[in-house]
Amino acid sequence: MKCYICRREEAVVRIEGKNYCKDCFLKLYEKRVEKVIKKWKLIENGDRVMVALSGGKDSASMLYFLNKYKKAVDFELEAMFIHLWIPEYSDLALEKSKELTKMLGIKLHIVDIKKGTGKTLIEIARSNRRRAICSICGIVKRYYMNKHPRERGFNKIATGHNMDDILEFFIKNFIDRNFEWNDKLKPIVPSTHPKLLTKIRPLYECSNVENYYYAKFNLLPFIESKCPFSKISKWKNIVECFDTNIPGSKRQFTRTIEELNFSVKEPEYKQCKICGELTTSKNGICSFCKLIHEN
Ligand code: AMP
Ligand code: ZN
Repeated sequence: MKCYICRREEAVVRIEGKNYCKDCFLKLYEKRVEKVIKKWKLIENGDRVMVALSGGKDSASMLYFLNKYKKAVDFELEAMFIHLWIPEYSDLALEKSKELTKMLGIKLHIVDIKKGTGKTLIEIARSNRRRAICSICGIVKRYYMNKHPRERGFNKIATGHNMDDILEFFIKNFIDRNFEWNDKLKPIVPSTHPKLLTKIRPLYECSNVENYYYAKFNLLPFIESKCPFSKISKWKNIVECFDTNIPGSKRQFTRTIEELNFSVKEPEYKQCKICGELTTSKNGICSFCKLIHEN
């Protein structure tokens, strides 16, 4: 089968019912990411952007693309890996992150949670049995993703959340009437407090498979195995149903979410009594400190 765009080369990927050769796919992917960056002003001259690198395909693709994007815009780019000490997973993910940043010549910050808290993720989970380990992991990651780059003068944190993640979060939150979270499901969440970094999601309109092929075709080192704690998500199947039935509907749905505005009031922030980071909790202790110090 020939490529849908150039009509010359053999097609190697099928996206939304159309077949593309490697070169046309790569160009299309980059054009798409660039469009999101420009439309939402994710990165501008003078920005200091920290990429949250997990070792997986999404953040690897993002870092590779942003490194290329530096030719067009003058900004600083570094990467951070949060070592959670997940057995047989974190070490491998760190290896891949080191390989990738070495290949691109980008500085890698390694944030070791054992140094910060004295505990591994599993140890934190053991003393917080009422919370699921994935929810604990989310709290720990969000904490360091905001604190570490901010303390080093960065103004933006970039994560590799993709279209499938966004759709899954959106549908789940929407059914739960959790409009507060959905209000923040945007390609950019601007800072509303000096202690909060601006969050950017350059891969907002790229799907799981697109990121996988982008990383593969560019020979990027990334970890292919899943975190041992990740469960099969039924929400993922629901999201997948959109494109299996109506090719292209996932992207259309994502673009609608981009434009939605739930007009939720910004919460009142306090500084955590223990660590000084921001919290909205009544007792003035942030969710990270609750996990680490209250058990
Ligand atoms: P997840 O929360 O695992 O779905 O990952 C979402 C995004 O968070 C990834 O694309 C990364 O940008 C970032 N991330 C996840 N795990 C880590 C980690 N261990 N260290 C740094 N960033 C991470
Ligand atoms: Zn705290």
